[in-house]
Amino acid sequence: MPKYFNTIKLKISDEEKKLRLEDYRYALENGYYFGPPVDIDDFMNKDIFDEFVRFKCLNCGTEHDEEYDILLEIWDESISDYPKIYCENCGKESSVPLDVYHKQTLKVFR
Ligand SMILES: [Zn+2]
Repeated sequence: MPKYFNTIKLKISDEEKKLRLEDYRYALENGYYFGPPVDIDDFMNKDIFDEFVRFKCLNCGTEHDEEYDILLEIWDESISDYPKIYCENCGKESSVPLDVYHKQTLKVFR
């Protein structure tokens, strides 16, 4: 759990679980995955969550959600307290987590 912003946890649907199982089976059959076997019933009965971060652009205000897993790959915590990514709308590298957005815009009005 990151220190400077919150994440949103969303339960994945049964359809999404089925898709993930298919991916998993494919990976097993083709040797892309080495690991303990997954109990299919167990997997289908479990609540599985995806973690997202709500982003808001400091330039144009557009909001969007990004998967936390993906962020962890592009964000170096030792360099910055929070990830900064390209905005889908204006194309500027000024989209920050919503909590960071509020902190930064508050400073402007202080
Ligand atoms: Zn923007």
